[in-house]
Amino acid sequence: MAKTPAANRLESLWNDAKAASMSEADKLLYRSNLLGSDKRVTNYGGGNTSAKVMEQDPLSGELTEVLWVKGSGGDIGSMKMEGFSTLYMDKLRALKGKYRGVEFEDEMVGYLPHCTFNLNPRAASIDTPLHAYVPRKHVDHVHSDAIIAIAASVNSRDLTKEIFGNEIGWLPWRKPGYELGLWLEKLATENPQMRGAILESHGLFTWADDAKDCYQTTLEIINKAAAWLETKTAGKPAFGGVRKPTLPPEERRAIAARLMPVIRGLISKDRHKVGHFDDQPAVLEFVGSQMLETLAPLGTSCPDHFLRTKIRPLVVDFDPSKPDLAATIASLPKAAEDYRADYAAYYDRCKHDNSPALRDPNAVVWLVPGVGMITFALDKATARISGEFYVNAINVMRGASGVSTYQGLPEQEAFDIEYWLLEEAKLQRMPKPKSLAGRVALVTGGAGGIGSATAERMLKEGACVILADIDGKAAEDVAAGMAKVFGPDVVRSVAMNVTIESDVIAAYANAAAEYGGIDILVSNAGIASSAPIEDTTLALWNRNMDILSTGYFLVSREAFKLLRAQGIGGSVVFVASKNGLAASPNASAYCTAKAAEIHLARCLALEGAEAGIRVNVVNPDAVLRGSKIWSGEWLDQRASTYKTDKEGLEEMYRQRSMLKRSVLPEDIAEGIYFLASDLSAKSTGNILNIDAGNVQAFTR
Ligand code: NAD
Repeated sequence: MAKTPAANRLESLWNDAKAASMSEADKLLYRSNLLGSDKRVTNYGGGNTSAKVMEQDPLSGELTEVLWVKGSGGDIGSMKMEGFSTLYMDKLRALKGKYRGVEFEDEMVGYLPHCTFNLNPRAASIDTPLHAYVPRKHVDHVHSDAIIAIAASVNSRDLTKEIFGNEIGWLPWRKPGYELGLWLEKLATENPQMRGAILESHGLFTWADDAKDCYQTTLEIINKAAAWLETKTAGKPAFGGVRKPTLPPEERRAIAARLMPVIRGLISKDRHKVGHFDDQPAVLEFVGSQMLETLAPLGTSCPDHFLRTKIRPLVVDFDPSKPDLAATIASLPKAAEDYRADYAAYYDRCKHDNSPALRDPNAVVWLVPGVGMITFALDKATARISGEFYVNAINVMRGASGVSTYQGLPEQEAFDIEYWLLEEAKLQRMPKPKSLAGRVALVTGGAGGIGSATAERMLKEGACVILADIDGKAAEDVAAGMAKVFGPDVVRSVAMNVTIESDVIAAYANAAAEYGGIDILVSNAGIASSAPIEDTTLALWNRNMDILSTGYFLVSREAFKLLRAQGIGGSVVFVASKNGLAASPNASAYCTAKAAEIHLARCLALEGAEAGIRVNVVNPDAVLRGSKIWSGEWLDQRASTYKTDKEGLEEMYRQRSMLKRSVLPEDIAEGIYFLASDLSAKSTGNILNIDAGNVQAFTR
């Protein structure tokens, strides 16, 4: 299943005409973006690039050498110019006089801000000395899978020599920092013929005196490693061959949908996590292979990999040749507990006196033979990216185990990176999570006025949202618009008719496979109808009952099942109507169905309380703007009853309200958000009227 050799080859995308008018800094950005946009060159957020450029000193006006180097954080594929830090080279060289030896190397990071050129606010990264001291103008550092496969082989030094002769050097594992910068300098200075170096268990450094040369050297070295690996492994089954069969795609996804809510519940006791399911061929090959049991426990090697994936994955006890999903689900609590205990023991074995406190001990990567890989993190993008990183680790293990013996990083080294005080400082600088971070909401009628305003409100608070609507195309369009604002990870759409049981069940299975489950149901899908009782046909009556009463029952019943499988509570919000409390002429079917919703919510509040599932109701009234209800027959009927048009109606309803204010979809969304979030953690069975004041709807 490995990629074919031709497909694996990296092509130079350098455009001379485009680069001709660029400054050295522009060329550095151009090169960085080209390198980082191909995940075969480096993983997301991995690697950094630099150029040493002559610049005019803002004070003296004299030319001085400045290091432009990717700053702390960010990704070379998508970075902009402000992602680079700039430092005086003469000051960086002067730092050598401050160096007190390897045990004090971390303090050198504190000196870097003193070397800043031109008041650049971008913090310099820990890797800055690795770029500064290589005596060449341009330096690339990337984490290509093909290179790390060599770097993570037990005999990586010999392999480097065999593949690259004297053109690429080799350095033993050392965590990135000042000392490694000095090692690289020594290697490059003593071996002027070298075009780069492989760092054991880590990645590649390449250098040149010209930006294009540096870029092409990076590609050439990666291509050479990839070609060598392909030749050496040709004809050999990856990972020692197949041990367990791969299940068909629908079955894999259905199993993931059953497992993910349970796992999510087990690992979200402190903070809610979001899941990601990945069953790409590389994953399936690994989880079904002979070597799964031996390679998985060894852990990942490249620091970037294990910072994202934790040192090792959890292999779920599931046999695709004799599937027993109930037994697997029953085994998950112990598996999660054992993993936590192992992680805590690793922390205790490796910690130093000044180590930061034990972090979340739960597994990030869950491997399921025959099914795929499930990853969890505090947000969807991180869960997805953690999965991508584990795919990098799989690629590395495939390469290394195909040509040699794969080795993970020694435990203490891994710990020293994971609990590095400088890494901890980065975590401390992270912004406070938003109020719905890690939460997943399913909004029915999500393509409509109130539904889409609600989705937007929740997305702003960091939730993931699934827009479920009978009009699948409309939901897709609304979701696409939201993805542009909030990013493609956090919003999904699904075609679902709330009156069709199988649709509802499928939508929740989809939510489970997409995000790991749900925490919030906003049951909002609806219609409006108007007719005197004598003219109310059975069909009209049933339509109201079907959508507004039975539909609300079905979506909340399935939500309860999922919420109980997770076991971490949840919040259900029904969007009913003022008309569920206040009788209204010529709308008996609608009013009665809305009243049923409200009473259903109260019954469910009672049933859900012991599981921490809250159920509350929002009652809107006369929300004309954005609502599709107010554009069809209902609008015509109401407008003709009151002998006016849409604007006239809105004004009429405004005047009718006690507060003399129009009610907007955003107002309803705010109330729904309040009831969905922990702001209302101690409220259940409640009704919130958002109608600008209507005495008939006062609850009593
Ligand atoms: P809207 O028409 O803009 O949105 C309703 C959405 O529900 C639509 O996208 C529609 O496609 C969807 N839908 C309809 N039937 C469905 C079904 N069977 N399965 C799945 N989706 C279905 O209307 P809105 O104003 O946003 O209304 C949302 C909710 O608010 C409704 O329950 C409505 O009764 C209630 N409400 C609205 C008002 C108001 O003045 N707008 C007042 C009181 C109550």
